[in-house]
Amino acid sequence: MVKILWKGNKMRTPFVAGNWKMNKTVEEARNLVYSMSAKLREIQSVEKVLCPPFTSLLAISGLLEGTGIGLGAQNMYWEEKGAFTGEVSPAMVKELCQYAIIGHSERRAYFGETDETVNKKVKAAQTFDVTPIVCVGETLEQYESNRTSEVVARQIKFGLADVSPAFAPRIVVAYEPVWAIGTGKASSGENANGVVSKVIRPALTELFGAQTAQAIRVLYGGSVTASNASEFFGQSEIDGALVGGASLKVDEFVAITMAASKR
Ligand code: PEP
Repeated sequence: MVKILWKGNKMRTPFVAGNWKMNKTVEEARNLVYSMSAKLREIQSVEKVLCPPFTSLLAISGLLEGTGIGLGAQNMYWEEKGAFTGEVSPAMVKELCQYAIIGHSERRAYFGETDETVNKKVKAAQTFDVTPIVCVGETLEQYESNRTSEVVARQIKFGLADVSPAFAPRIVVAYEPVWAIGTGKASSGENANGVVSKVIRPALTELFGAQTAQAIRVLYGGSVTASNASEFFGQSEIDGALVGGASLKVDEFVAITMAASKR
């Protein structure tokens, strides 16, 4: 009899998303997509997502049609419509995107996002059938005072509270230590894997049960480059990456996606 071994990480499709942050005009965004989409679409075993600024979503959605590359917003509000000047609703995001980044640490640090607002946005994503890429991670101060587990467990517990077990496997979690974002000082693969295996999956298990927790993709984010990507993708609990700076460089982003296809 052939024995089939459980290979947890192989059961989850690798996932790579590019967070362009507040970069690129519409024309620049178009040019970036022109130069990377043909290369990316060849890497079929990876779920790939580009997250440009809101102003470029319409232009980029047309360019990505039929490529198998997904489109994501970098944020979205939880109300469907109304007097919320400057916000973009989940219904509007859904018109153009399949994904939305929620609770990025820059939004938590500069725009007052909390676990409570993250939770409202995740529940709105559920209602509007948008796949949320939910960011969690500790600050440098929390890391240095050994509070990573407590902080990240709390972000998962409250950020994903009351999400339906049926929707939960759609969620993508990005573990992004704040001290590693945009600093060029990435976490080690081993450290990131430890946080995912000892904190994030147990917290997901508490919320949704072991089977669903095993199905949820968990990414690493924070100064991922073509040179260090394999270190993360070689870890048993890391299913891909949320890439900031390097997602604006065609060769880097393609190489990172290629590395994910080899995990
Ligand atoms: C990010 O913006 O989510 C990110 C991880 O940025 P960087 O890759 O530049 O550190």
